[in-house]
Amino acid sequence: MRLSGPAIPEKWLPAYEAHLQALEDKVALVAAWLLLITVVIYQFSHPLRNIHSSEFFATEFLLRLPVILMSSLTLLTHYSGRCRWPSRYFLRLMGLSVMAMILSMLLLYQQNTISGLYQISNGLVISFFGVSVLAVRGIREWALLFLLPLSVFAAAVVFLGISFTAILPLFFDPLMMMLIGMIVMEALRRILASEFEARQRLGEMASTDQLTGLLNRRAIWPLLNHELDHAQRAGTPFSLILGDLDLFKKVNDTYGHGIGDMVLQETARRLGNALRRQDILCRWGGEELLVLLPDTDSRGALQVAEKLRAAMADSAIAAGNHHIHQTISLGVASFQQGDTIEAITKRSDEALYQAKHRGRNRVEVAAQ
Ligand code: GH3
Ligand code: MG
Ligand code: MG
Repeated sequence: MRLSGPAIPEKWLPAYEAHLQALEDKVALVAAWLLLITVVIYQFSHPLRNIHSSEFFATEFLLRLPVILMSSLTLLTHYSGRCRWPSRYFLRLMGLSVMAMILSMLLLYQQNTISGLYQISNGLVISFFGVSVLAVRGIREWALLFLLPLSVFAAAVVFLGISFTAILPLFFDPLMMMLIGMIVMEALRRILASEFEARQRLGEMASTDQLTGLLNRRAIWPLLNHELDHAQRAGTPFSLILGDLDLFKKVNDTYGHGIGDMVLQETARRLGNALRRQDILCRWGGEELLVLLPDTDSRGALQVAEKLRAAMADSAIAAGNHHIHQTISLGVASFQQGDTIEAITKRSDEALYQAKHRGRNRVEVAAQ
């Protein structure tokens, strides 16, 4: 069994981490409510459970206090939205406090009276299962949540001179539940991880163009809207560049569609290399490409567009046995207050039309 969990492709690791954290948020919230409610119920239900141990009321409360505090802290930080700590830490705090509580109660009852020991054994069964479920991240979390408190417990048993043979029978059922909990959680984790992978794969297929590997038109749309919102709120500029290959129909007609495809792939590669990290290149349509330039005014966008034009015009593309001089025309448009995405793309399209009209292999900027 792998220690760290199912193998997720490296490019999806940040998204998988976010997915795990969202899962931990949910588990932490449910666990905190569950713990708080059950611990309070157990504190006040001695007569109902037929245990006459009112002399332990205060001691038991002390042992339950860390669980009450940890689950309250989890709920408080969740509902106040204040804490930046990942839920993983809250899960650990709750898990460790439950283990500490139930194991110390066992020691308390073992030492003083045998009435109620059976109830503690039942409590161990529930806690061992519950704590297994808290270990959302797998084996390492289990080791932390079980081995650490269990070894402290074993040390205490030795220190107090209690015989292990008296204690061990009480652990048979709880350990079985821990095993079942581990298997259930591991199976769930694997199912969730493979579902995550399938969803990512589908998302990627739906958002990328197969020929060039670029984002497709549908996938860039939310990014454009996000940029527009940001520009409207923060007053920052952004620009679009619409590019269209020159006389590309002739390439297809002369060399065939397959060579045309290779030219398109090389175009995507060259333009991608000429752009900055933050710029986003997408296949807008057949041989039309759109570039989103965040935080860039029309002067900056003109420079980028000129670089893109040169990346195509400066050297021929080797495709099959041919060397093809493929140029591109580009239209630049920048954000203006009150703009819509439709309006900016329309202006970049008009600028592109101007570039075609004025002889191709050139850049035109839309009038502001
Ligand atoms: P212009 O300079 O005016 O843009 O001339 P053009 O020939 O490029 O103009 P037009 O837009 O009419 O032609 C675009 C061509 O691009 C037509 C279409 O067959 C081709 N095309 C579109 N998508 C693909 C593709 O995926 N692969 C190939 N090989 N060709 C494509
Ligand atoms: Mg075209
Ligand atoms: Mg064209």
